[in-house]
Amino acid sequence: MPSGPTFVIVGASLAGARAAEALRTEGFEGQIVLIGHERHYPYERPPLSKGYLQGSEARDSIFVHEEGWYAEHGVDLRLGVGVTAIDRELRQLTLSTGETVGYDKLLLTTGATPTLLPVPGAGANGVQYLRSVDDSERLRETLSAVSSVVIVGAGWIGLEVAAAARNAGVATTVVSMEEQPLLAVLGPEVAPVFADLHREHGVDLRLGTEVDRILVSADAATGVRLADGTELSADAVIVGIGVTPAAELAEAAGLNVDGGVLTDAGLRTSDPDIYAAGDVARAYHPLIGARLRVEHWANARHQPVAAARSMLGQDVAYDRLPYFFSDQYDLGMEYTGYVAPDGYDRVVFRGDVGKREFVAFWMSRGQVLAGMNVNIWDVTDDIRDLIRDGLPVDPERLANPDIPILDTRAKS
Ligand SMILES: Cc1cc2nc3c(=O)[nH]c(=O)nc-3n(C[C@H](O)[C@H](O)[C@H](O)COP(=O)(O)OP(=O)(O)OC[C@H]3O[C@@H](n4cnc5c(N)ncnc54)[C@H](O)[C@@H]3O)c2cc1C
Repeated sequence: MPSGPTFVIVGASLAGARAAEALRTEGFEGQIVLIGHERHYPYERPPLSKGYLQGSEARDSIFVHEEGWYAEHGVDLRLGVGVTAIDRELRQLTLSTGETVGYDKLLLTTGATPTLLPVPGAGANGVQYLRSVDDSERLRETLSAVSSVVIVGAGWIGLEVAAAARNAGVATTVVSMEEQPLLAVLGPEVAPVFADLHREHGVDLRLGTEVDRILVSADAATGVRLADGTELSADAVIVGIGVTPAAELAEAAGLNVDGGVLTDAGLRTSDPDIYAAGDVARAYHPLIGARLRVEHWANARHQPVAAARSMLGQDVAYDRLPYFFSDQYDLGMEYTGYVAPDGYDRVVFRGDVGKREFVAFWMSRGQVLAGMNVNIWDVTDDIRDLIRDGLPVDPERLANPDIPILDTRAKS
């Protein structure tokens, strides 16, 4: 039986489950209460728009731990329960069941929720979002039953769903306000790779335009109308226009919130007994020198470990570089680092962009800030080292695939 202080984690998904695991690995013997809205055991979301959506990945493979793990490790897992309020003075949470739970330290891993499309008709049947395993199962059913879809948004989720829809033989149109898919993340030099990829697979890309209403008949979505009046009919409309951090609980409790729950590098919020990690946290990143909210799997996997150590009183500064990956058709990619949309002065390509086997490096003043490898593997560690070193790099050598990545650094 656990004894000692009570640490409560709100949000039972990847970040929450990883924090519970890290607390035990670090030797914490007190009570751990892990509370989550969803009725499912904590699971990972990347397969929900890839293998699990397409039916090639089994349900068992998505869970963070086996069901028995929580009891075996003395984690009091409460599923299907929401936390509705934090009383910081009493150090107590109110639950959707009406119960209260006291805490000595609290970790918020409440994640993010899909941003809703703010146009008329968006509440009609057949308008779908993708965040949860239930959403993914619903969408899989939809893709097997329809002949056409319109996807609103050309970010990672929109494009992965487009790939799944095309693989299912569904006529697919993607509508995006941006002139290129993923323009805000990749910039105009690299984003066309994804436009070409999807066009080659038969996706009708409608770029630089907006959906101004969902067309509805008998309460069901029948397509969309674009800002220029064009009407696109479809059997279903799927929306992937980004996520909003689930920070309401923190905000109502008076914690500092600004585009996420603000924390220091040790994941501590403006209340020294409350921490935040994963998609909801906007944490100070010592290497980048700014606060970042990272909406990616690797961050939700590693940041809570740092938060757990911090909760145990260890001196922690989480400075792992952001990393994410995506799979679309036969394109697999990994991205390491961080660069603001106007934060680079050149992009260097190494490899064959036309064949979609290359690495792109975003550089500023001779330094590499971020790198993306496409269908080239086992280079992430080198890219990360190059960025972390911050040493000047020779762009011509960087572009030459015969020179090892780390040998492109200027010798000191
Ligand atoms: C379909 C999909 C595909 C993705 N693919 C990739 C990918 O390929 N690569 C990549 O790097 N990243 C990917 N991501 C992003 C990655 O999955 C997220 O970064 C990660 O899930 C964040 O984990 P989290 O635990 O911080 O938050 P979440 O996964 O959002 O979990 C938060 C949990 O907290 C619960 N909660 C919220 N408020 C309360 C409350 N008040 N009380 C109780 N419970 C609460 C929520 O119900 C939820 O279960 C993908 C995401 C999605 C949705």
